[in-house]
Amino acid sequence: MPLPFLFELIGFGVGLLFGSFLNVCISRLPEHESVVTPRSRCMSCGHPVRWYDNVPVVSWVVLRGRCRDCGAGISWRYPAVELAVAVWFAAVIVQAPDDLKGFFGSVPSFILNPGLTTQTVGIGVLGFLLIGLMVMDWQTQRLPDAFTLTGIGIGFVLTCVQAFFLAPGEGDIVLNTAHQLRLSSPGSFQAQGNVFLTGTEALVLGRVAAIAGAALILLVVRWTYKALRGRDGMGLGDVKLLAMIAAFLGFGETLLALFVGVMAAAVYGVVLLAQKKAGRETKLPLGSFLAAGGLFAALCGPAVVGWYLGLLR
Ligand SMILES: [Zn+2]
Repeated sequence: MPLPFLFELIGFGVGLLFGSFLNVCISRLPEHESVVTPRSRCMSCGHPVRWYDNVPVVSWVVLRGRCRDCGAGISWRYPAVELAVAVWFAAVIVQAPDDLKGFFGSVPSFILNPGLTTQTVGIGVLGFLLIGLMVMDWQTQRLPDAFTLTGIGIGFVLTCVQAFFLAPGEGDIVLNTAHQLRLSSPGSFQAQGNVFLTGTEALVLGRVAAIAGAALILLVVRWTYKALRGRDGMGLGDVKLLAMIAAFLGFGETLLALFVGVMAAAVYGVVLLAQKKAGRETKLPLGSFLAAGGLFAALCGPAVVGWYLGLLR
């Protein structure tokens, strides 16, 4: 019997390390700098960060948020991002199917479920990208292609891997199910309806349509705004961000992410207006809110979309 929460704990630890790397991306990508070299330095005195001052969360607490050399403040963003990715990875494993969390003999059982594992890894990667984009858009009003376009590619490739591992007949779209065909001999054959798309085709083609559809929704909003107001109201980064969410999650969850993101942005805007901190020309970091909507849709989406489709029946 392995430790309880073993997989969740591993996810949390790995998340801290990925969060540490995400901090580097957040600091450097909007400035078009390499995320590999040079080593991390203090923003004030330029002294390279020692390895023992680079332990996620712990170092920041030990140093009380100050540089060891010059005493300049280190933003709470660093431990916050590390913790956020750690909590995200743990949460993804908590809500993953139980089939993935155990051992088959000495082999971790997620190895035996490549399709489900790919899906779970995808949600982990999506969270990493969305947390990064959320912070970058908030601080710099930039959504780097290195995250959005790369994310669309990763999401689509993972979908193809998932489609490859579908069981025969799983996810098939069958038309005309009233039509039955039965051959009892030889080789007893039975078919119900005509397969319109196999599960693999439906998943891959559906995802292509979802990516294009998500981009199109925001492009239409962008064009409409420009036609009415004569200037750009929304960046192309927001368009690519929503397409990225679609690449990982599909169309239904993307609509949920858009809805949640726009509502959150609207509430925030109204609060700013009420406090007289914003006027008609204030630009909200829409990408940050879309990213937050994407995080919500990734964790709670299947439940919410299922509940909503149930209402329509
Ligand atoms: Zn310093």
